[in-house]
Amino acid sequence: MKVCILASGSRGNAIWVRSGQSAILVDAGLSLRQLKQRLAAVDEDPGRLKGVIITHEHSDHIRGLPLLLRKIGVPVFATPGTAKVLAERLDLNGFELFDPGEKFEIGPFEVLAFPVSHDAAEPVGLVLEDRRTRLGLATDLGQVTRLVEERLKHCQGLILEMNHDPRLLKEGPYPWEVKQRIQSRFGHLANEKGGKLLARVHHADLDHVWLAHRSEVNNTPALQRAAAAEAVAGRGSEIHLTWQERPAETVEL
Ligand SMILES: [Zn+2]
Ligand SMILES: [Zn+2]
Repeated sequence: MKVCILASGSRGNAIWVRSGQSAILVDAGLSLRQLKQRLAAVDEDPGRLKGVIITHEHSDHIRGLPLLLRKIGVPVFATPGTAKVLAERLDLNGFELFDPGEKFEIGPFEVLAFPVSHDAAEPVGLVLEDRRTRLGLATDLGQVTRLVEERLKHCQGLILEMNHDPRLLKEGPYPWEVKQRIQSRFGHLANEKGGKLLARVHHADLDHVWLAHRSEVNNTPALQRAAAAEAVAGRGSEIHLTWQERPAETVEL
């Protein structure tokens, strides 16, 4: 399984995962042009795309979706709640629906979604599995439930949100309401909460961890890394940063 985090952050999210000749795109927060440019930069062929999964309807996850739906003839998967909002707000239709907790397949991938606590209609985290490896993904969530923790166990790769540092958020320039929203249980995970989750689900075969959805205003790469290092505590997982403006280091999982 090859994992390419093409973009991560509040201005656009897109994750490309390939197994053999087939690839999935998780979220369409890049313009089609940017998506193609970044795929070229990581040496991946857009022709291998077999399906797109939308985790939730926030603009940083669907910005490129209207054009993608028109130009690329692959199925787009969403929960009924997400699909309903996208139909109402953007007149986007034709989704393949899945319920959290129900496994479905895209090419060689088995996909299991699970609900997360976030201020969207029916947001999900994901576990993607091919015959060899399992990748867990949870990037927009305000709190870690027992179910989230359960689903993210036993993965060889994890893409985890570490959105903000609470002190930087508190002292930062955002209006009070926005600060409240971000740190609420329907907002985003702080570094320390992401770190605690990582510590709890860590195991000897967790080879790669990506730190995702970092706020450009209320966080720094160094703070994220420190939180992850504390969580992993020398137990041998490789930690990767992710970026808004460019793809993260690609990894063969
Ligand atoms: Zn987001
Ligand atoms: Zn969101």
